[in-house]
Amino acid sequence: MARPRPASCAEEEPDAAKVRLIRLRPYHPTYVIACFGEGGSKKGYTRVGMNRVVQAIQNNPDVEVEFVECYDDICQYCERRKPSPTGSVWGRHHTCPSAEDPVVVKEVTEANRQVLNLLGMQFGAIISLKELVPLMRERLPDIGKSGIKQIGGAGMQGRYEKGLKAIAAHVTR
Ligand code: SF4
Repeated sequence: MARPRPASCAEEEPDAAKVRLIRLRPYHPTYVIACFGEGGSKKGYTRVGMNRVVQAIQNNPDVEVEFVECYDDICQYCERRKPSPTGSVWGRHHTCPSAEDPVVVKEVTEANRQVLNLLGMQFGAIISLKELVPLMRERLPDIGKSGIKQIGGAGMQGRYEKGLKAIAAHVTR
């Protein structure tokens, strides 16, 4: 089961070929799962980071996930993230339009809290993907009906279900 650890917010560059630990913000796993089912992301400002995370999972079904509050492994390659001498709510040296929009910050903060509550986890916890996937299936089967904003909504449900099946098969083979 999940083991607690202080949240790692160091801005390190992960090597996708050898990744043993993926750092994710709690509102991001639904997107990762949906993208995994499609073999990656073809467009959007999170494409590079998302594809690196999907590739890390493809290369290592035993990978672990750490839940972080700050910019994560997807944000790290986001086209919208920029260096900032004053930093932002999610990073000491970077900012992005979402971090500067109080409505988005509030919704993401709430989404993170709700997802962590659903999973029975906290920031800094580390869980293997093998354990996280069945937990997501059990506790967050329908992202639209969950009422949680910022995790993809009803429009992504089909891709999420397809991704759940694909990633569950991948981590249990
Ligand atoms: S817009 Fe900001 S919060 Fe969203 S993925 Fe990019 S860096 Fe992360």
